[in-house]
Amino acid sequence: MDNDNKLDRFLKLGKAGEGTYGVVYKAKNKLTGKNVALKKIKLQKFYNKGCSEGVPSTAMREITLLKGVRHSSIVELLDVMYTTDKLYLVFEYLDLDLKRYMDHSKQPLEAELVKNYMKQLLDAIAYLHSHRILHRDLKPQNLLVDKEGHIKMADFGLARSFSLPTRTYTHEVITMWYRAPELLLGEKMYCTGVDIWSLGCVMAEMLMKRALFPGDSEIDQLYKIFRIMGTPQEDDWPGVQLLPDFKAAFPKWLPKNLRDIVKFNNTEEEILLKEMLTYDPAKRKTAKELLKYNYLKTAKLTTPDLTAFPVEETIDEAGPS
Ligand code: AMP
Repeated sequence: MDNDNKLDRFLKLGKAGEGTYGVVYKAKNKLTGKNVALKKIKLQKFYNKGCSEGVPSTAMREITLLKGVRHSSIVELLDVMYTTDKLYLVFEYLDLDLKRYMDHSKQPLEAELVKNYMKQLLDAIAYLHSHRILHRDLKPQNLLVDKEGHIKMADFGLARSFSLPTRTYTHEVITMWYRAPELLLGEKMYCTGVDIWSLGCVMAEMLMKRALFPGDSEIDQLYKIFRIMGTPQEDDWPGVQLLPDFKAAFPKWLPKNLRDIVKFNNTEEEILLKEMLTYDPAKRKTAKELLKYNYLKTAKLTTPDLTAFPVEETIDEAGPS
């Protein structure tokens, strides 16, 4: 069956959201009756491996590999379809993302819910990293939650095939709030630590109900980090001054006590967050190491409070084509 016909299997129900690479539609699989998220990616714009037309075979191979990813805290990629200039990724569907959930909560998330989410997310990251997959763009918008207390990562692995653009296809600026300092300083050889930093920023936001480093440009992002964590020095991060975008002229801020900024529920929470926000990527603990921390030993499935949550209908509109 060609890919155009395969697309006919889905009945579009409306728009579920807009991501870095394209529109996400809520759709129903006519054969199974199950809801799916259909992500449409226009290719030429985001592909950066020198190919201007069609689906490059390397991207296809890389994305097809993602179909093999199976983890309870990672949104399942059910199918991949492509036409000459578009790629459609079919994912399992979840109703709510963490950003919307936090926007609607009146208070920071409950300590037990934060712990529950962190356990699942570190578990998922450990799994992805053990399969040599980086997420590279973790943020509350692409963490999906359900009413039973599960949290699942969406949008994983695409960074390997596509460049991370600074604007979306609708020219919206992509948030840098969760971006690791080594990426902001131009490190090209970045590694799994970039995801740990992002997850640390997400954890802080769950505890504060506002973003820890809400920068509005690359330099503002770096300065927001420096003002809290201190301007990085060779002592705590050897080699930092050699990174392409490090400037000797950066203002020199001293580190603040994170405790004065984040309202921790207990010291174990504080210890975990501090580890995740370690400047030197070589010293930043891996997900596998963090999973052994005491804080997570008592994690259990905890349900979010969705009582006051509005049931939002998806808006019907033309597409997906
Ligand atoms: P993304 O491109 O993954 O960042 O997705 C953009 C938005 O689309 C998210 O913030 C979600 O609101 C929505 N979305 C993405 N994936 C799914 C999914 N599997 N189920 C439901 N909504 C999704």
